[in-house]
Amino acid sequence: MERTLSIIKPDGVSRGLIGEVVRRFEKNNIRIAAIKMINMTKIQAQGFYAVHKERPFFASLTDFMSSGPAVVMVLEGENVISKNRELMGATNYKEAAPGTIRADFATDIEKNVVHGSDSPQSAAFEIGYFFNSFEIID
Ligand code: ATP
Ligand code: MG
Repeated sequence: MERTLSIIKPDGVSRGLIGEVVRRFEKNNIRIAAIKMINMTKIQAQGFYAVHKERPFFASLTDFMSSGPAVVMVLEGENVISKNRELMGATNYKEAAPGTIRADFATDIEKNVVHGSDSPQSAAFEIGYFFNSFEIID
């Protein structure tokens, strides 16, 4: 069993896509081990995306991520890190495979509805960034 961090970004929440995204996870045998809604501060978003701090889109991305409520989740399942990335689709929605969350709902390379950890190392960091062990249900 593996765990990963998923975020329904502020564009997904404001467009009423929470249920649709969660349904896709559950339908694909992914268990929600933790879930909450947060409104990230700019500082919190900067810490979360610190790996991207030298990128030209960092300021805009952290403004966007702190612009409104987001839903953060711990997903659990077999190979859930790569499985979640497959369900999400490519970062650029124009390149995302048909039927993926980003192909179906993203409107912009930045406003791409969901986030998912990309490795076991980033999953461990990202889960710990938002959840303590009491909030994650075995
Ligand atoms: P995420 O980390 O959000 O799951 P990802 O791993 O597919 O997405 P990253 O390369 O980690 O993509 O980029 C993080 C986020 O930064 C992207 O999801 C997107 O919101 C934004 N982003 C990435 N590339 C660009 C870009 N060229 N222009 C604007 N925003 C971008
Ligand atoms: Mg990423």
